Amino acid sequence: MAQAIVTPPMQRKAEALAALVPLMSKGRSKRTGQHFVIVPGTTPTVAHWATATGCTCVGFQRRGVCTHSLAVRIAQTPAQKVSPAALATRERMKSYAELFPADD
Ligand SMILES: [Zn+2]
Repeated sequence: MAQAIVTPPMQRKAEALAALVPLMSKGRSKRTGQHFVIVPGTTPTVAHWATATGCTCVGFQRRGVCTHSLAVRIAQTPAQKVSPAALATRERMKSYAELFPADD
């Protein structure tokens, strides 16, 4: 298979799609147990089953990479850790006892 190449437009589209991945329906294959995300395709009424490593769309079969699979991979990548300096500037959250004082 040819080397899978991610073009800048594909990357941009995948990043936009990745933001929607948490809202998309998820599934699990009864045969293999593999979890997948149901990603809506460009064509109305068409959806693709995508994982971080594969997709059921024609583009993935032809090129070995697609925006659906890229989007799932981006969405499943853990967010970068917040630096201690950024944490220090955050407003401290109220504790449970401050929010719901005990009745005496
Ligand atoms: Zn795809």
